[in-house]
Amino acid sequence: MQSQFPAIARIRCVTFKPNMMRHSLVSLATLIFAAILIAPAQQPAQPAVTQAVLAGRMIDVRTGQVHTHAYILIAGDRIQSIAESAPAGIPVTDLSTYTVLPGLIDAHGHILSNPTSQSFADALRTSIPQSTIWGVYNLRIWLDHGFTSVRDACEGPADYPQFALREAQQRGVILGPRITAAGSCISVAGGHADGAPLSPDLELPRGRNVADTVDDIDHVVRRDIKYGADWIKLMATGGVMDSVSDFHVQELSEAQMAEAVAVAHRAGKKVMAHAEGAVGIKAAVRAGVDSIEHGTMLDEEGAELMEQHHTWLVPTLYCFQHDMETGLSKGRDPASFAKGKEIIAAQGPAFKLALAHHIRIVYGTDDDDVDEASSKEFGALVRGGLSNIGALQAATINAATMLGKDNDVGTLEPGRYADVIAVKGDPLSDITVMEHVAFVMQGGRIIKDPAHPDRNPVIHIQ
Ligand SMILES: [Zn+2]
Repeated sequence: MQSQFPAIARIRCVTFKPNMMRHSLVSLATLIFAAILIAPAQQPAQPAVTQAVLAGRMIDVRTGQVHTHAYILIAGDRIQSIAESAPAGIPVTDLSTYTVLPGLIDAHGHILSNPTSQSFADALRTSIPQSTIWGVYNLRIWLDHGFTSVRDACEGPADYPQFALREAQQRGVILGPRITAAGSCISVAGGHADGAPLSPDLELPRGRNVADTVDDIDHVVRRDIKYGADWIKLMATGGVMDSVSDFHVQELSEAQMAEAVAVAHRAGKKVMAHAEGAVGIKAAVRAGVDSIEHGTMLDEEGAELMEQHHTWLVPTLYCFQHDMETGLSKGRDPASFAKGKEIIAAQGPAFKLALAHHIRIVYGTDDDDVDEASSKEFGALVRGGLSNIGALQAATINAATMLGKDNDVGTLEPGRYADVIAVKGDPLSDITVMEHVAFVMQGGRIIKDPAHPDRNPVIHIQ
C-alpha cells in the first residue's frame, strides 16, 4: 500500500510547461464569459428573513452611534440586515422600550469554578465530574446575564472538561455562551498554577501543566493543542488566589514564553499571559503574547511596550474588588486574602496608565461567582476611567476582534450571528443598567424574554 504515495507525489510534481498555463487561461476565460452570458443580471438572492427584532434604541458599538426604531432582520441564526421596517408576515420581537446591543463576550472566565467556595480543601475534594457540572451551571448563568460568548482562561483538570463543554454547547447539547477555550494553566513548579501546595512528604504527581524549561514548554503547549486548545495560557508571574506564589515576581522565563508563542502561532493559536508584577508583564509582552491578563502592576515602560506590540489588556478589575467584599467568608486562605489586599492598591494607577497609552481593553471577569460578578466589570471599567462606550466595546467588538471572531460576533451587522441583548435605560449615560440584562437571544433563539419570564430556563442557586 505504501507504494501508492510516491505515485501521488509524482503526479503533483508533473513538469510545468508554459503552454499548459496558456491553454488553461484561455479555457478559464471562455468559461467565465459563458457564465456571465448565462447568469441572470440581478445580485444573488439574500437569505429569507425568518424573524425580526424591533429595537427602540440600538447601539452601534463600532461607531458609538445610536439608531432609533431599527429592525434587526434575521435569517436563520444570522443577521441578514438592519432596516427601517420588517417584511409582512414574520414574527417580530418588540423591544421598542429597550436599548438593544450585541450579545456580550466575557474574555476571562474559568468555566469549571465552584461559585460557592474559595476553599483549597474543597477544591481538593471536588471531582472532575463535579467541576464539569459546575461548568454546565455557570454557562447558563453567563447566558442569563447576556454573555453569548466566553473565553475560558485555563482550567486545572488534565483531561480538559472545558473542551467537552465547548463541543456540547456547539452541538446544542447544553445551553451556554459560545466557548473559546485555553487548555491547561501553564506554570513553573511552585508557581501560581502549580496546583499542589502540599508539604514535601505529601508531594502530588507532577501536573501536566508544569513547565520548568523551554523543552517542557514545547511538550505542554503541544499537548494543549493536540487535545483542542484555542488559546495557550501562560503564568508569567505569581498570582493572588493561590496561597504560595508571589505576584510581584516573574515565573515563566522570557525564553519559555517566546517558545510558547512560536509553537502556538505556528499552529494558528493565540497566547494569553496572566501577569501581575511589572517585570513579568514586560517579559510576556516582549515574548509576543497576544493578551495580558490583569496587568495589575503595569508601569510606564510596560505600557509603552504594550502600545508598541498592540498587546490586548484584559484588566479584570472587578474580581479583585469583589474579593475584598467576600473576604474569608467562602473559605479563602488568609495568605491569599492578604495578597489581595496588597495588590488592590495597584490596579487603579495601572489601568489609568493603560488608558493613557490607548491600549485596547477587553472585558473579562475572572470571578468564580458568575452570577454576582459577570456584569459588574462594566461599572469597574467606567469607575477606572474608561468611557461608557469604551466599556461596551470592551465586551463586544474588542473582545470579538481579539478572539479573531469579529465576522461572527461582537456587532449587530449583516452576516453576524443573531446574538442580541436588551436592557432598560441607556448604558451610554448609566453603565450599571448592564447589570440587568432583560432580553437575550443567541443565534436567533430567544433565551430570556421579559414578555415570558416563565420560559427562562436558567436557575439561580443561593
Ligand atoms: Zn483567571
